[in-house]
This record gives sequence, structure tokens and C-alpha cells, in this order.
Amino acid sequence: MHEFGIAEAVLDAVERRAKGRPVRRVRVRAGALLRIATPAMDQAFAVVAEGTTAEGATLDLVIEPARLTCRACGRTTMSADPLVLCPGCGGTEIDTEGGDRLVLESIQIAEESHVPGHSGRDRGDPARPQ
Ligand SMILES: [Zn+2]
Repeated sequence: MHEFGIAEAVLDAVERRAKGRPVRRVRVRAGALLRIATPAMDQAFAVVAEGTTAEGATLDLVIEPARLTCRACGRTTMSADPLVLCPGCGGTEIDTEGGDRLVLESIQIAEESHVPGHSGRDRGDPARPQ
């Protein structure tokens, strides 16, 4: 379950960007070589986000393919699966390139204007005379 470590890294980045605002949706690009299992990642994120501004946020996970180059025949393939054999010759000596990034692509902030019963009265005009 290395998804927990990744989920914590994602949450860190989300909280820095959200600056305390409630987060509704999070979009993450993860390289295929990180081998993230989407259901495990959803679950891990829900757990680490509990009690934070990202609690209950939807996680959109986009898997970025890696570039695989076969050493035997030189064929290049883009693949989201790091374990494939060379489709050309079946060789297993494959160089991989890319596919190991973890990028927080975007977050969606919940609309605060619709929150009922707002009690932020401490933001009143400080210049107003008593
Ligand atoms: Zn090959």
C-alpha cells in the first residue's frame, strides 16, 4: 500500500494550494511507473484527507504512460503498464523513460458563497466609529 505515501504527498500539495479553502475536486497526473492502483489510491486519499480542507474531495487520477524502448530491436512504445514485453520481438530488456512523475494538475475549490449561516462578523469595517 505505497499509495498512502503518495496520497500524503498529494494532500500536502493540495493544502498548500487551497490555503484553507474547502476543496471539492483534485486532479493528479501520476506516471505509470509509480504503479498506483486507482481504487487503493482513492481509499488512501479519503483516509489522509479526513479532517482536512480536502475531506470528501473527489480524486481524479490520470495515469501518464512511460516510453519504453527495446534494447534488442529498438522499438519504442508508449505504455501505461511498466511490465510489458517488447511487442516487436518479445524481448525483456527494455529501457523506460518518463512515467515516474507525480503532478498535482488542478484543484477545484468549493463555492463558499453558498455556505448558509455565515458567521464571519469579525471581518466588519474596522474604520466604523462606535
Ligand atoms: Zn524488441
